[in-house]
Amino acid sequence: MGLRLYVATTNPGKLRDFQTAAQAHRVCLEPLPGLAEIEAPEEDGDSFAANATIKAVYYSQFAPGELVLADDSGLEVDALDGAPGVRSARFAADAGLVDSPDANDNTDVWNNMVLLQRLGDLGAEQRGARYHCVLVAARDGRVEHTSDGSVEGVVLNAPRGTGGFGYDPLFYLPDLERTMAEIDLETKLTLSHRGRALEDLLRQLRL
Ligand code: IMP
Repeated sequence: MGLRLYVATTNPGKLRDFQTAAQAHRVCLEPLPGLAEIEAPEEDGDSFAANATIKAVYYSQFAPGELVLADDSGLEVDALDGAPGVRSARFAADAGLVDSPDANDNTDVWNNMVLLQRLGDLGAEQRGARYHCVLVAARDGRVEHTSDGSVEGVVLNAPRGTGGFGYDPLFYLPDLERTMAEIDLETKLTLSHRGRALEDLLRQLRL
């Protein structure tokens, strides 16, 4: 395997997505060593780029000389003026339904319930949304690259499929006539926000 990059995420769904997408480029993505023991920085940015930068700059200081990737991503729903956006992981927590995203294994289910409730009985033409991902690569506390990816879809009014994570059972891809939770991982990564952001980053690294 060629180059090794560290990725600063404890989210197993994201890690699996990045590792699968990287395989095609002969790049090895590994979780940042000791990540679980490092206290997480506060993600208080008001954009995906701001939060990904906070994480990449911070975590790169724990792996001197190495390129460390961090992402921030989420769902932007047009009818909700771009919400949940940077609050995607905490949508139900912000609504007071769970204590914190990490404290509850059912967080994804609650987040999806809040989304369905907010959209009510809006028709499909008013349920447009996109997943958006910003990826930042930093070394020794300095940003070296920033990349971006997104994918357009429609929020269904009931979940479909068992794959993926997060909002995937509600995120419908009209061209494929399937939700993100109904397609295999390789297909997901050819068109997903995360796969596209990683492609963009590897292009910048000329890999
Ligand atoms: P982050 O860990 O702060 O980037 O939060 C991202 C959140 O956005 C996740 O917890 C999910 O709720 C949502 N999200 C991001 N990417 C995806 C995806 O590929 N599928 C489903 N949900 C996603």
